[in-house]
Amino acid sequence: MNTIPHWINGSPVSGTTTAPVFNPATGAEQARLVLGAAPEVDAAVQAAAAAFETWSESSLSQRTQVMFAFRQLLVEHEEELARIISAEHGKTVDDARGEITRGREVVEYVCGLGDVLKGSFSDQVSRGVDVHNFRQPLGVVAGITPFNFPAMVPLWMHPVAIATGNTFILKPSERDPSAANFVADLYQKAGLPDGVFNVVHGGKDAVDAILTHPGIEAVSFVGSTPIARYVHEQATAHGKRVQALGGAKNHAVVLPDADLEFAANHITAGAYGSAGERCMAVSVAVAVGDAADALVGILERKANEVQVGPGDRPGTEMGPLVTKAAQERVENAVGGAAAQGATVVVDGRGLKVEGHEDGFFTGPSLLDHVTTEMDAYKEELFGPVLAIVRAESLDQAIDLINANPYGNGTALFTASGEAARRFQRRIKVGMIGINVPVPVPMSYYSFGGWKDSLIGDNPIHGPEGVRFYTRPKVVTTRWPEPRQQVAAGFDFPTSN
Ligand code: NAD
Repeated sequence: MNTIPHWINGSPVSGTTTAPVFNPATGAEQARLVLGAAPEVDAAVQAAAAAFETWSESSLSQRTQVMFAFRQLLVEHEEELARIISAEHGKTVDDARGEITRGREVVEYVCGLGDVLKGSFSDQVSRGVDVHNFRQPLGVVAGITPFNFPAMVPLWMHPVAIATGNTFILKPSERDPSAANFVADLYQKAGLPDGVFNVVHGGKDAVDAILTHPGIEAVSFVGSTPIARYVHEQATAHGKRVQALGGAKNHAVVLPDADLEFAANHITAGAYGSAGERCMAVSVAVAVGDAADALVGILERKANEVQVGPGDRPGTEMGPLVTKAAQERVENAVGGAAAQGATVVVDGRGLKVEGHEDGFFTGPSLLDHVTTEMDAYKEELFGPVLAIVRAESLDQAIDLINANPYGNGTALFTASGEAARRFQRRIKVGMIGINVPVPVPMSYYSFGGWKDSLIGDNPIHGPEGVRFYTRPKVVTTRWPEPRQQVAAGFDFPTSN
C-alpha cells in the first residue's frame, strides 16, 4: 500500500507511525499517512530557517518568476490534482477543479508582487526630511488546514507567505493529505529553492509542536471553531502572530419579492454542493413571510433531483461525506431534528449508491419548521442538510442571523435594492451575497468571517494576507547639504 511521506527540505521523509487514508466513495483504505510530531516539525523549521536566509534576500522579480511558473504548473496539472482531491475527499472532480481555480487566483494575486508590496514615500515632511515605508517578511511561518479544501485553503496561505519572502511549513488535514505533497512537487518544478515550502503530516502532536516551536513566527489556521480558539490561544501565548478561521452556519434569506425558482436553484447548489462540507455552504434558508410554502415546494423538488454518486463518475453532483463518522453524525442530526419537532421534507438517510455500498454516502436532507432552539439549527452539521426557518420580516431575519454565534457568510435573495442595502449594513457577518449564495471573496479581497467564525482579528489572503505575513518599517531620512548646520533640538521632534 502507498505510504504518503512528509516533504522536508525538498525531499520526501518517511516515518514509522502511520494512519489510514480512505476513499470515501468506496469506504476502502487506500494509503497510509506518516504522522509527524515534534522531531519532524523541528527538522522542517531548521530547513525553513536556513532557506529563509537566501529566499528573503531574493529579488521581487525572482520570487515573481517562481509564482508565474507555479501558476502555470497548476493550470497544466489541474486534472491530475483534481482527481487526487476527489479520491481522498469525495467531492466531484469538477468541484475539485473549482477549488484549484479559486486557489490559483491567490497565486495570480501575488504574481503582481511588485504592486502588492509597494511602499509609500512622503517628500519634505520637514525641511530636508523625507519618510518612506516598506514591509519585510517574518521568517518561518506555518499553516494548519482543514480537510474540506485540501488545495484551496493552503493556497490561501502559502503563495502570499512565500511571495512576500517567508518560508512555509504546511500541516494539512490527515483525511486528504496528498494534495499537499503534489503542490510541493509543483513548487520544486517551478524553481522554488528547497526548504522554502515544507509539509509535515500529522494530527494534534504535529499541531502542538508548531504552536510551541520558538522558530515559527506566525501560524495560519483554518478549521472548526473549538480548534481555532485553541490554536489562537496557544500560538499567541507562545508569542506568534495568528490567523484563526473557524466554523460557520450560513443563512440565506429569501424575501417574498425574490424570484423563487432562481433562489431555490442557487440555495440547493449552495447547500448540497460538496455534500455541504464547505465553510460557506448554505445550511439555513430563512423564508420570509409568504415566500415560505412556495419556496419549500421548489426546494423539495430540487433536493430530490440531486445526483449522488462517486466524485469521479460523470454527472455526479454530490459525492460522499469524508468519513464514516461524518456520515453517522449527519444522519443522527437529521433523526434528532425530527425528534425535536422539525418536519423532514426530504430524508437523505440510508442512501445506497449502486456499486458503492460501503461508501460514506448520505443523500440531501431538507428540514422544515426548524427553530433556533433545535440542535440541527445550533450545531454546524457540515453535511448535506438544509434547514428552513420561517421569519415574518427582513428585520426579524436579520435579528435571527445576528443572534447566531457564527458570522462567516450569508446571502439575501430579493429584487429590492433598499432591502439589500439594509441587509448588508445591519448584518453581523463578514461575507455577504446579494442574490449570490456562496459569496467567497476574490483573491484581491480578503476572506474572513465575524464572531465565532474568525478568532482574533486577521482575515486571510488579499491585502490582509500580505499585511499578516510582513512587518512594516518606516524610515525618516535627512541628507544634509555639505556643511549645512541643522539645529539639534532637545525637545520632542516636530516638523517645520
Ligand atoms: P478540524 O478543526 O477538525 O481540523 C482542522 C485542522 O486542525 C486539521 O489540520 C487537524 O489535523 C487539526 N486538528 C484537529 N483536531 C485537533 C486538536 N484537537 N488539536 C490540534 N489540532 C487539531 O476541521 P476539519 O474537520 O478538518 O474541517 C472542517 C471545519 O473547518 C468546519 O468547521 C468548517 O467550517 C471549517 N472551515 C472553515 C473555513 C473558514 O474559512 N472559516 C474554511 C474551511 C473550513
